[in-house]
Amino acid sequence: MIGKRQFYINGAWVKPSTANDHVVINPSTEEPCAIISLGGQADTDAAVAAARAAFPAWMTTPPAERIAFAEKILEVYKTRTEDLAQAISLEMGAPIDMSREQQVGAGTWHISNFIRAARDFPFDEPLGDHAPNDRIIHEAVGVVGMITPWNWPMNQVTLKVIAGLVAGCTMILKPSEESPLNALIFAEIVDAAGLPKGVFNLVNGDGAGVGSQLTAHPDVDMISFTGSSRAGRLISKSAADTLKRVSLELGGKGANLIFADADEKAVKRGVLHCMNNTGQSCNAPTRMLVERGRYDRAVEEAAEVARSIKVGPSSESGRHIGPVVNETQFNKIQDLIRQGIDEGARLVAGGTGRPDGLNRGFFVKPTVFADVNNDMTIAREEIFGPVLSIIPFDTEEEGIAIANDTPYGLTNYVQTGDPARANRLARALRSGMVEMNGKSRSAGSPFGGMKQSGHGREGGKWGIEDFLEVKAVSGWTPDA
Ligand code: NAD
Repeated sequence: MIGKRQFYINGAWVKPSTANDHVVINPSTEEPCAIISLGGQADTDAAVAAARAAFPAWMTTPPAERIAFAEKILEVYKTRTEDLAQAISLEMGAPIDMSREQQVGAGTWHISNFIRAARDFPFDEPLGDHAPNDRIIHEAVGVVGMITPWNWPMNQVTLKVIAGLVAGCTMILKPSEESPLNALIFAEIVDAAGLPKGVFNLVNGDGAGVGSQLTAHPDVDMISFTGSSRAGRLISKSAADTLKRVSLELGGKGANLIFADADEKAVKRGVLHCMNNTGQSCNAPTRMLVERGRYDRAVEEAAEVARSIKVGPSSESGRHIGPVVNETQFNKIQDLIRQGIDEGARLVAGGTGRPDGLNRGFFVKPTVFADVNNDMTIAREEIFGPVLSIIPFDTEEEGIAIANDTPYGLTNYVQTGDPARANRLARALRSGMVEMNGKSRSAGSPFGGMKQSGHGREGGKWGIEDFLEVKAVSGWTPDA
């Protein structure tokens, strides 16, 4: 079994102040696969002190030098992709090919994109031609506590760490206790890149321990959090006493509006997107809203696609989906499927219980419900499993109203052959992102939500801005 009990503090691997073992479970087998340590207050304090001490020098390190460190991290990251893929696959259940391509690939993509965005970023700029003696300086927020989830672990870690680094912040990363192994490899990557000590620190722990200690810590200036809305609320309250900045990336309940004139692949694309990563994506299109004229055909097609999706262990090569992350999630999903049936939705694929042939591991049947109405629990709650709800609508206005009738506002999707309608919908949908006709967002595009999906933006120049203060200076002498 893998033993990884140390933390990375002040440029060195250190033992936890007090032994507190935590067993990581392989969700494909339900067997223990690794032991890590959960930190305590003394570990959190040591990491915060190291980040605080490193801050003045790192903040004033010229941006070009900070970017050069990000480039070095990218170089080393590329040499460790197989280790990262194996770790993610083992601990959170992403099938190995998907882990290599999508999970680890997301990290490469974000690091590269931040390097590009940072090169063009105006860290220091004139206010405007009308005010030659005014200067705007974009200055690092300070010491940042970064708290990440297990579902897209390297995606989340790189979105926070690399943006924070190029912005001039120092940091303490607390990865999810469900998926700590990939983050420990990431710390080895940062170590090999030779960053000044104390700029990046990693302490493992749970939400009640290191997570809460970071959010309440008087020497932490900002919390950047990705995870559940439940934890987002607790973190906001805990951070309020010290008035620290809080950036939140929370859950979602994305609508995918499919109009009768959508392309032939729209339904299949929507189902596969919903089920990708075993439905464990905050931006998953989990409510498929279909215009009445296309509805019956769409239900049939969606059920067929779901039935064709293979489920299997994460160690196996192929295009299947893996288990969900743990027993708690498995039970929660089973309960929600049961509730969908009880509340009168029509089950057209999947259902409760494990898929045939799989009696161990947290495997869930790819499930599709038709005739869902937007008040049912399965349409309101984030399920975080491979479960799709199909809802009919008659008019564009009704479709928009259903899509917006949710506490969340992360990503919505539109499928239509009418470009004017697509643009109208892009403006009308209340979400941080709208993706249309299967076109994904390009490099440097910001990721983040509205309403209870949070209020931070990650990626591109917006992701860097999240870690910066705006300082207004008057009486500035140009060229001095
Ligand atoms: P979670 O909120 O339970 O845990 C996320 C992280 O927060 C973990 O590191 C955990 O240890 C920590 N944490 C938990 N409670 C805390 C507390 N009170 N104080 C400080 N830290 C605390 O969520 P999860 O189960 O790990 O992840 C799934 C959730 O994350 C889903 O709801 C999903 O939609 C959301 N998510 C959102 C995004 C996004 O960008 N919007 C991305 C990925 C996941």
